[in-house]
Amino acid sequence: MRFIITGPPASGKGSVAPFITKEYNILHISTGQMFREEIKKGTALGLELKKILDQGHLVSDELTDEMVRQRLNQDDCKNGFLLDGFPRNINQAKYLDAYLEEKGLKLDFAIALVADKDIIIKRLIGRRVCQTCGKNYNIYFTQPKKEGVCDLCNTKLVKRSDDTLEIAEARLQIYNEETAPILKYYEEKGILLKVDGNLKESYDTFLQIKEKVNAK
Ligand SMILES: [Zn+2]
Repeated sequence: MRFIITGPPASGKGSVAPFITKEYNILHISTGQMFREEIKKGTALGLELKKILDQGHLVSDELTDEMVRQRLNQDDCKNGFLLDGFPRNINQAKYLDAYLEEKGLKLDFAIALVADKDIIIKRLIGRRVCQTCGKNYNIYFTQPKKEGVCDLCNTKLVKRSDDTLEIAEARLQIYNEETAPILKYYEEKGILLKVDGNLKESYDTFLQIKEKVNAK
């Protein structure tokens, strides 16, 4: 199975992804994660990516398309994938279709999470991350037992540098202008699955997705 998952920032894509990849035995490919790994490595590309993302801007189509193409070409994607963070606009959606067609493949479903603005903003600016074990918290929704400290490994929690209100609103606006049009694109192809992204439990979001996949 080949899926893309889209939705405004903090609509729960990353949290629901593991349920989907486990169910369909496929790989989770997150462009955000790919970018952060590159930044962590401190390469020239990483520095360029950090500058773009810190300003709340989008990475260019050329750069993103190329990183995604190289990733999808690897053997571990043969059984399928869940693409998260890509495509972010119509051009990238067309690029993905052309890439798959060239390989004699096609996208099975485009999952679109839909969430309310106030929930999205709180999820974004309230997010705190444990850099040791990777567990995510939120000061509005899922607080750790002891303030500012990870429940699992006792590490001090950090706020990511791009989780500010200003950047959150900029990202939301960019989503609405640039990315939201791909919903119509996939709807016309008959593969769009619209899902409620406001739910607290990611597993419940997953159940909605599974039900819709089975119904098709
Ligand atoms: Zn931890």
